[in-house]
Amino acid sequence: MNTQRLYLSTTIPYVNGRPHLGHALEFVQADVLARHHRLVGDQVRCQTGTDDNALKNVLAAEAEGISPAALVDRNAAAFAALREPLALSFDDFIRTGSDPRHRPGVERLWKACAASGDFYLKRYEGQYCVGCEQFYRPAELVDGLCSEHRTEPELVAEENWFFRLSRYADQLHELISSGTLRIEPAGRRNEVLAFIAGGLEDFSASRPAARARGWGIPVPGDPSQVIYVWWDALGNYVTSLGYGTGGADYQRWWTEADRRVQLVGKPVLRFHAVYWPAILLSAGLPLPTDILVHDLLTVGGRKISKSDSSGDSADPVALAARYGTDAVRWWLLRDVPRVGDADFTPARLIARANDDLANDLGNLVSRAVTLVHRYRQGKVPGVAATPGDPARLAPAGRALAQARRRAPERIAAGLADFDFRAATAAIWDVVEEANRYVERVQPWRLARAERDGDAAAGERLDESLALLIGTCSGLGRELAPFLPGLAARIQAACDDSAGPLPAAEPVFPRLR
Ligand SMILES: [Zn+2]
Repeated sequence: MNTQRLYLSTTIPYVNGRPHLGHALEFVQADVLARHHRLVGDQVRCQTGTDDNALKNVLAAEAEGISPAALVDRNAAAFAALREPLALSFDDFIRTGSDPRHRPGVERLWKACAASGDFYLKRYEGQYCVGCEQFYRPAELVDGLCSEHRTEPELVAEENWFFRLSRYADQLHELISSGTLRIEPAGRRNEVLAFIAGGLEDFSASRPAARARGWGIPVPGDPSQVIYVWWDALGNYVTSLGYGTGGADYQRWWTEADRRVQLVGKPVLRFHAVYWPAILLSAGLPLPTDILVHDLLTVGGRKISKSDSSGDSADPVALAARYGTDAVRWWLLRDVPRVGDADFTPARLIARANDDLANDLGNLVSRAVTLVHRYRQGKVPGVAATPGDPARLAPAGRALAQARRRAPERIAAGLADFDFRAATAAIWDVVEEANRYVERVQPWRLARAERDGDAAAGERLDESLALLIGTCSGLGRELAPFLPGLAARIQAACDDSAGPLPAAEPVFPRLR
């Protein structure tokens, strides 16, 4: 099997507030991809972090009457602390405000673009949304308001460094339309291509240091300006690898990686699929290979605002504390479509967890283990039919064996398409086939027949119990990237390597 070297990254949220469920979605998606690729033997580096230098952090700190550094330290810690409640397995977490790798890398990236002649000074006046940290053209506003924040932009006039984005339009269009830079889903790629075809305008790359209250990284050679978010925040994808500080990681995970995969949310797609590749082209660096775009969550029908907390119902830590990590991850992976926004409510999370994890899967595992205890003293019969060999099985088991055999390929295909629902559906087909199999075979009737002297029934009982335990144990392996906690409990429940199976216990207690 060919193994690959993959560098996976999430976007780094700015930390003017606490993490919400929308952040959790992207982190969990990246984590599943990372765990999946590690499991199939690929070399993986998965990274996340926080955008500490955003101007919004400065404004949020002023509103609270504390220093930007204090605000950023507090909130960034809350993001890093998602690791345990969400069972995240990222390899690196970069904080752009304090990580010593970051500033030298940003400066180097800026200087590389400057050396290409892509910066020029320009006096600029425009409608600026602080929430977006972006200037808008009048045509981009809705009734004069930012469509994202529903607030009126400020009129800002200042002199900034501008970046010659226009120079890269044709090249970007070609790279994206040829699939050299793959954007999934296809609808999002088409949006980017249409945006490029509509004409790219140069954009502002710096801010006056005074307006940024001195927060951020000064422009090399012009300390009156600080580097604006694009070089600073987007730069994290290479600064964390030591692009500016040396070491082998940059070469290993950027220039020599087979795939450089970036997960992004719909609102920041343009920056990742147009600005960032243009910066890399300007600097003469390789581009990402894949940009995977997720849509947004709403909570109880309300948009989760980037800048305000929507209360406990959107707090992933509170949700994990109340319902468990597996239930939170499962809702995000199983209910959120590949295209289209998804609405979260605690009731939906509970229903999804109870239907799938407690009923379909949890009952299957309990039943299989209980049957082995009842009829075989907890010892799994040693006739394990492999999923690769359905022909050896009695006809009742063939559909199940086939679903099991096809699952790994379907899971891999779903994940390659950034389609977590398709990947989890492949697993669920196995669960459903296994439950059908129990109803069809009725091991308890085979056991009665065996007691009455039917030796063939005894053999079929052995076969069915071995197939059920083998299936549950296989489900434990397939689920590991998605629900590491539950997967480990299932594998432990089906483990007879040290004697009889442990007594049956619910692997996923029902939620209320
Ligand atoms: Zn805005």
